[in-house]
Formats: sequence, structure tokens, C-alpha cells
Amino acid sequence: MDSPWNGHFSAFDLVAKTEGNERTVVRAGNVEIGGRDFAVMAGPCAVESERQVMDTAWAVAAAGARVLRGGAYKPRSSPYAFQGMGVEGLKILKKAREATGLAIVTEVMSEEDVEVVAEYADIMQVGTRSMENYALLERLGGCGRPVLLKRGMCATLQEFMRSAQVIAEHGNPNIILCERGIRTFETATRNTLDITAVAVLNLVSRLPVIVDPSHAAGMRVLVPALSRAAVAVGADGLLVEVHPLPEKAMSDGKQSLNFAQFHSMMRELEPYRAVRNLATRERAHTDCEELVTVGGHN
Ligand code: PEP
Ligand code: MN
Repeated sequence: MDSPWNGHFSAFDLVAKTEGNERTVVRAGNVEIGGRDFAVMAGPCAVESERQVMDTAWAVAAAGARVLRGGAYKPRSSPYAFQGMGVEGLKILKKAREATGLAIVTEVMSEEDVEVVAEYADIMQVGTRSMENYALLERLGGCGRPVLLKRGMCATLQEFMRSAQVIAEHGNPNIILCERGIRTFETATRNTLDITAVAVLNLVSRLPVIVDPSHAAGMRVLVPALSRAAVAVGADGLLVEVHPLPEKAMSDGKQSLNFAQFHSMMRELEPYRAVRNLATRERAHTDCEELVTVGGHN
């Protein structure tokens, strides 16, 4: 068959869905991602202070999140923007885990920081700007922690899968894929949430797939609708930005929910999650052949 996917499966055989290897369940702390549960990860874009993180951790835990997010190392488009608190930020996240029992996901930007971030984090986040940082991906292969790999904002799904393969190839099969919106001609939103990507990845990949509605939308009013779409399309979880006072946030305030908004979004998601859990992982059997054909025509 003539298609872009053809002949490429060997390029990501360690992360592709294959017979006998249909699903990877990633465990972090006491959370399972890719299993029956729909795992919600929530918290501020950036760690700003102990108070901010602690308050957020308690609030998102009470609303049903299982993982606390928060960047201590921030990849910013401007060199003058807040770059993150570094190790001080990691220590605050650790305190929040000890207090609330939430697992921690936080970004690592450089291979030099892998060791220190792995000391504090339960899940290592690779940001969209780093998806093709191969030195970083290779080092994450030996970090001993699961990796949350965000899709590059201009990356095809094949390129995304190849980056996952690099991590697996270097010894780490515990990878979570995250669709966070891609660049398109559309200007109404910060990015375009490629909901189709979740369905495609569920067909071709054995890895759990989550959705980040916050960076996709760029504005908080759209986050609940995109989150419902994520549940319905078969995602394994969400990565959502939540801040005690979004209008005062040092980064990404416009797309961050406050505690009450996050709480009501979680309540509204409940019926959708219940249906999803009943339907239990009805991922089509390795039906890649069909996709290969589809992928061949533009
Ligand atoms: C983030 O999660 O705060 C972040 C920087 O995301 P992305 O890499 O998707 O832009
Ligand atoms: Mn952010």
C-alpha cells in the first residue's frame, strides 16, 4: 500500500500498537494512566510561590484531580518573560505532594536538568518546543520516571510517534502522549485542538493519550467544551491549567481556570466520564491497515 504511514511502523515499533501489545498503562504514584480511569492533571502554568501551589493542590485534589501540574522551568517565547523558579519550585511541588498525596508532573527543558527534576517529579513533562530535542529525549530514556510527551506545535503524528520511540529506544517505555493543539491558519484560538489526533493515536499507538485543552484554546471559556470533547473521543486524561487568581498569574492566566471554574467543569464531566468508563477502552483492534489507506490520500 502506498502511503506516508507505509513502511514507517518499524520506525516506532516500540510505541505502536501491535498484536499482544495493545495498551501501555503508565503508573505514577498511585495513579494509572491508560487504564480504566480518566486521569486529570491540573495546576498552575508556573510555580510562583508555596502558597499558590499549596492552595491549588488542595483545590484540584478536592475536585478530583489525581496529578498536580506546575512548571518550575518555563520555556517562554520571550527571554524577558518569567523563566520559572527552578529547584526552589521543585521543592515546593514536593511539599505539595507530601501534603496532598497528588503525583507531580513538571517540565524538564534540558538534558542537564533531567537528574534533578527526576528527584522531585513523578512524571517528566516534555514541552511542545522540546519534542524534537533528541538529547533530552535520549536522556529521559534512562530517567526512571514516566514521561509526558507533548506534541510539537508543528509536528505530524508520525514525527510525534518517532519522538516517543526515541525515549522508548533508550530504555523507557512509560510514555504518555499529549495533544495540546497545533498551529494552523486559525487565529481565533491560540492553537487548534487536533481532536482527530487522539483518535488516530488510539488506533496506531499503544501509549496513553491525554489532551491539554488550556494551551489548545488559549482562553478559559473554551476549556470545558474541549475537555468534554477529549473524554468523548477516547482520551485517557486531561492536563488543565488552574490558578488561584488567574488574572494575577505570571503566565497563561487567560487560559487558566480558577478553583470554582475547575470544580464545576469536573462536576459537568462526570456523566461523560461514567459513560467512558462503561465503554471500557474500546480501542479498535490493530486496524492500522485501514488508516494506512486513508493516510495515503490527501
Ligand atoms: C505548559 O504546559 O505550561 C507548557 C509550556 O505547554 P506547551 O509546551 O504545550 O506550550
Ligand atoms: Mn502554560
